[in-house]
Amino acid sequence: MTTELKRRTIPLTRPLIGEAEAEASRRPIMSGWLTQGPEVAAFEQEFAAYTGAQHATAVSNCTTALHLALLAVGVQAGDEVITVSHSYVATANVVRYCNATPVFIDIDPATSNINPALIEAAITERTTAILCVHQMGMPCDLAGILAVTKRHNLPLIEDAACASGSEIFWDGRWEKVGKAHGDIACFSFHPRKVITTGDGGMLTTNNAEYNTQFRLLRQHGMGVSDRVRHSANQVIFEEHAVIGYNYRMTDVQAAIGREQLKRLPDIVAARRRIGTRYLDLLTNIPGLTLPHEPEWARTNWQSFWMRLPTHCDQRGVMQAMLDRGVATRRGIMCAHREKPYQREDGYNLPESERAQDRNIILPLYPQMTDEEQDYVVEMLKESCHA
Ligand SMILES: *Cc1c(COP(=O)(O)O)cnc(C)c1O
Repeated sequence: MTTELKRRTIPLTRPLIGEAEAEASRRPIMSGWLTQGPEVAAFEQEFAAYTGAQHATAVSNCTTALHLALLAVGVQAGDEVITVSHSYVATANVVRYCNATPVFIDIDPATSNINPALIEAAITERTTAILCVHQMGMPCDLAGILAVTKRHNLPLIEDAACASGSEIFWDGRWEKVGKAHGDIACFSFHPRKVITTGDGGMLTTNNAEYNTQFRLLRQHGMGVSDRVRHSANQVIFEEHAVIGYNYRMTDVQAAIGREQLKRLPDIVAARRRIGTRYLDLLTNIPGLTLPHEPEWARTNWQSFWMRLPTHCDQRGVMQAMLDRGVATRRGIMCAHREKPYQREDGYNLPESERAQDRNIILPLYPQMTDEEQDYVVEMLKESCHA
């Protein structure tokens, strides 16, 4: 290894963004139409075409997308929504936004995703929706989940925050996550995700009524869109029949998002090459447990995780790697361990807790070189004395 490489820090991630996005952001600025205008409309159409969904609605971030999804399927105060604790805390928080209760079930440690076999036992007469997460871009077992939700006539919302460009084998062909295999899918464009607009989110669905709800609620419940009012030849007075929100995406974000979407196929291809290379390089290290990609899934490797051998201390390994210039993160958090979700009788979520406590996430970004990746693996071996 060169000393030059050793002195710099390999980041966990790095967005692939540049001139094309900077140039595109000039359009809305120079046009004077800055929010939820023609760029947003075009980004929605292009995102729908990419995923294969009939409708796409852009919003301010994935958290607001998830909130609107729960409202659209009718989640109300006192209801229960079955989901995972092992996710970014926003997944649980949006259920609380509706004054409903998240009911946490455990994950399958091989994929870090919801274990479909545990859903049925968690269903009560107060259950109004299932909220699954394609964690770190790995598609969940949608066939297994849908078998349960269909039997109980419950809507399925997919938290696809990390899953732009991930694919699932469906009806004999590969389809994009977000074709809305469930009822609604929600995406994030935060810089930590695969494509970014700074902040930003998107809902996809094949249900026109849900889509109308999203459009109404994202804009203060206003019955007429800005675009319709702007292009009308007659005076229009708008109405606000329901209490909505300001969850709009700006046209500057959308213009950037359209360029990011053009890059997405290449980004996913690069991430998949690097993810597969990690699997190859790490198989030789005894004691590591590696993520499992089911044969019906193609992850975008939004994050690459692995589980340390029992003799390696998570914090110690992460610190040793940081000292050697490699940034890592611990396993995905568990919402049930955070203050707003703690309860007297505790929770029985052993796999979720083990994943948080024993997994670590390694650097992965499309610009990563083989040399950088080799260095990460070497430093992992050193840090773990594996
Ligand atoms: C990032 C993330 C969110 C939140 O997305 P924002 O766009 O930051 O609101 C929700 N769920 C999961 C699983 C995430 O990873």
